[in-house]
Amino acid sequence: MRLSRYFLPVLKETPSEAQIASHRLMLRAGMIKQSSAGIYSWLPLGFKVLRKLENIVHEEQVRAGHVPMLMPTLQSADLWRESGRYDDYGQEMLRITDRHDRDMLYGPTNEELITDIFRSHVGSYKDLPLTLYHIQWKFRDEVRPRFGVMRGREFFMKDGYNFDLTKEDALHAYNRHLVSYLRTYERMGLQAIPMRADGGPIGGDYTHEFLVLADTGESEVFYDSAVTDLSFGDREIDYDDHAQCQSILEEFTSKYARTDETHDEAKFSEVPEDRRRVARGIEVGQIFYFGTKYSEAMNAMVQGPDGKKVPVHMGSHGIGVSRLIGAIIEASHDDKGIIWPEGVTPFHCGIVNLKQGDEEADAACDALYKSLTALGLDPLYDDRKERAGGKFATMDLIGLPWRITVGPRGLKNGVVELTSRRTGESEELSPEEAVKRIAEIYAGL
Ligand code: ATP
Ligand code: MG
Repeated sequence: MRLSRYFLPVLKETPSEAQIASHRLMLRAGMIKQSSAGIYSWLPLGFKVLRKLENIVHEEQVRAGHVPMLMPTLQSADLWRESGRYDDYGQEMLRITDRHDRDMLYGPTNEELITDIFRSHVGSYKDLPLTLYHIQWKFRDEVRPRFGVMRGREFFMKDGYNFDLTKEDALHAYNRHLVSYLRTYERMGLQAIPMRADGGPIGGDYTHEFLVLADTGESEVFYDSAVTDLSFGDREIDYDDHAQCQSILEEFTSKYARTDETHDEAKFSEVPEDRRRVARGIEVGQIFYFGTKYSEAMNAMVQGPDGKKVPVHMGSHGIGVSRLIGAIIEASHDDKGIIWPEGVTPFHCGIVNLKQGDEEADAACDALYKSLTALGLDPLYDDRKERAGGKFATMDLIGLPWRITVGPRGLKNGVVELTSRRTGESEELSPEEAVKRIAEIYAGL
């Protein structure tokens, strides 16, 4: 993309309404624009990152054997009356009446809708196990929408639902989700720690929240610092292997890590004192096994091997896709701007032409742009007639991990400059060598 043809409305001033770095930087980098409280337009740069995250989530869900689909944002109230949640959900639910006076709502989550789809089409244990998911906009009329996309009213969420014949199978689905989520967050350059969460009225130990540590997080967390040494890495996973998924779950959840809702001071004090941490975190996902709560309420039964009809065991599993962008920025920025991890960056690299209009510099930039795009890479070429300082400031603000700087002086010696946004270190290379390096960095991402 050539910047002169793009839409990147960066702000010079720091917006006064933004209290935390990620919100400030998303506004300043021209990623989002608020349209009303907690509701945002995704401008091209923000939209690009949102799509990248969505793709990573899709890839990892499909890898785990889960089946993508798409349900509507607007739902009929009738299904929610069946489950009993129409009244329970309270003010967070945006209720709408259509022209025929039918009660509708903007979905805050999809247990009812998916259970209805399931019961309409599945009647036998032979069709199980089944995990369906979608990535769709949700609406929750939060009392205090704040921190930009972190706590929006309209937000983008992956929600998946498993249907299993037995509790044992459903717990395997639970473990499988935990493993797939660990992979997903790591691909985004994030460490998200599974912490034991509150089962609420449904009860039980079977819910974990995934938290990204950040001073601006809304949750208070208590953990054994040994959990931050764990990393998923590139281990091979067979998602059908119950024992393997179970052992990974144990590896990642056996150390003390809880939110304030489930914190147990006595248990925490068993952690060696020098490893006890009290910090703040951002919830970027949650997994849940809730048994037959919805299948019983909504009569979602399957015929078991013995011919008897039984309610299916279910769980639901969510990832806050739009909130993740805020979490990534909270975890990765400096005073100049965002620093995107390579896995989610909106453009793979920037090209800065120090002397737009200079024949040689323009030709060199064009050639770089062509070679990069021919390799399937996606550069952002700043081809505006602007001061170098302004161009650098924009690149630093929008946070592309790599920048190639091209100017007449370097070109005389046959070199361009390759700079890392994270370290600030630069290296002089031939243009060909620079292209090769960028290609190597992104190979396999
Ligand atoms: P919270 O406790 O932060 O209100 P929740 O536990 O109610 O979230 P879930 O129902 O577990 O949310 O939804 C799954 C994920 O969706 C959450 O882990 C979070 O990342 C994201 N999410 C929930 N509410 C919002 C919101 N208002 N804005 C942005 N993302 C959200
Ligand atoms: Mg939650």
